[in-house]
Amino acid sequence: MSEPVPVIGANIISTDYPPMISDYILLALQILRFLPKFAATILNQRISAFIHKRTYKTLPTDQLKNVVVIGGSFGGYQAVKRLTETLPTGYRVILVEKNSHLNYVFAFPRFSVVKGHEQDAFIPYTGLSKGASEGIFHHVQDTATQVTERFVELKSGEKLEYAYAVIATGTSSKLPSKVASTEKENARAELRGMQDKIQEARRIAIVGGGAVGVELASDTKDFYPEKEVTLIHSRAQLLNTFGPRLHNHVAKTLTDMDITLRLSERPNIASQSKILQFASGEEQEYDLIIPCTGQRPNSAIIAALSPASISKETSHVQVKPSLQILDDRFPQIFSLGDVAATGGPKMARAAFFQAEVVIGNIQKLIKGKPDLSVYRPNVAFEGSIKLTLGKTRLAFYSQGNNGREMLVPSNMGHEDGDVKKQWAFFGANAKELERTKESS
Ligand SMILES: Cc1cc2nc3c(=O)[nH]c(=O)nc-3n(C[C@H](O)[C@H](O)[C@H](O)COP(=O)(O)OP(=O)(O)OC[C@H]3O[C@@H](n4cnc5c(N)ncnc54)[C@H](O)[C@@H]3O)c2cc1C
Repeated sequence: MSEPVPVIGANIISTDYPPMISDYILLALQILRFLPKFAATILNQRISAFIHKRTYKTLPTDQLKNVVVIGGSFGGYQAVKRLTETLPTGYRVILVEKNSHLNYVFAFPRFSVVKGHEQDAFIPYTGLSKGASEGIFHHVQDTATQVTERFVELKSGEKLEYAYAVIATGTSSKLPSKVASTEKENARAELRGMQDKIQEARRIAIVGGGAVGVELASDTKDFYPEKEVTLIHSRAQLLNTFGPRLHNHVAKTLTDMDITLRLSERPNIASQSKILQFASGEEQEYDLIIPCTGQRPNSAIIAALSPASISKETSHVQVKPSLQILDDRFPQIFSLGDVAATGGPKMARAAFFQAEVVIGNIQKLIKGKPDLSVYRPNVAFEGSIKLTLGKTRLAFYSQGNNGREMLVPSNMGHEDGDVKKQWAFFGANAKELERTKESS
């Protein structure tokens, strides 16, 4: 076995893009440009929700038509929330979500390393019923197994008849991206298991230099400086769905932290072994190898109904610009977020905007209006990212529709990843979080 390689510097894209002062001005301008429109939209939504609350009439369940939203993460949550504020009398929204709590996955890389905060990443769904008109919202914790022409079928055997269905089932992957458990306590135990493995290992290889791999590598090294951390990526550019400037900033930050970068490498991981085999024949042994690659779209629930609307290459649900599935036989089925090939970034913010298009189009179909709205991604806004690079370092990055990259580093991060703020955003009571902490 050969010696470890400290930095494969030759593979790092060499053009240097230091942070520019104009980026701060650009960021401020972008926020200022966006803020009034955003504030006006929110105000409009609040006023119509207020009026809706006073006009929606509660009917017996057997007189209601269902809009069934499958998946209650970032995309599904927003769709459900807005449907509770907009559906006319005679309709209700049913959320089918397998998890007991909203999994705030942004914090999973951090809570795979740092102990004591993992309960913060599981946000109760109580915010959805808060303020909703009586009878408009129903929540089912179950797994949808199949969507048929009339029903959403559940693992429990229950069948939910729908007038409209929204598939927001996202993607599946392993820790540190997602947990397998659907119950909060088991999910917390999964995160604690990963924390223990990282704590025990001395030599750690992280395979996959996307956002998750980068965040995990930097957190591991920053919280455990004595550990030897290697980040391996199959391409010359880290975070290759973003522009080269983010790569340059991240590569420099990680190498300054003494993390070994191995780029343009796709090593074999023998399943139970701790050895990575590189293309050159070189082998390296680690105490722990953490794969951070691969997200599988959860599209199988419509595979039998509409095989043509599932991409053969990627398994994403193919959608029209109206976000209806790409099958003219089923105009009542929509899809959004990471499971869908929407043309937008695979980011939570994009899923939020897509939800607004979907709920608008459901209203139009209910009213018999044929002119459906289309989803046009605003990549500069929806594709921007706040990346953590260790305990407190952050990088705000966005690429304008004209390709101009904007990068603003900061040192204002917190150990708990500021998750508590998200509880308020999702309408959950942070006091519940304190109670959870006391009882654990
Ligand atoms: C570690 C990490 C960090 C990230 N950081 C950022 C960031 O900083 N900014 C950003 O914008 N984006 C970020 N992302 C991407 C963002 O999380 C995704 O774009 C977003 O989660 C997509 O939301 P979604 O609702 O489409 O799907 P998902 O979040 O994948 O959720 C799908 C939901 O559907 C449920 N579900 C699936 N199948 C079924 C079924 N059959 N029945 C019932 N329920 C089902 C799942 O339980 C889940 O709750 C990050 C992702 C990860 C993994």
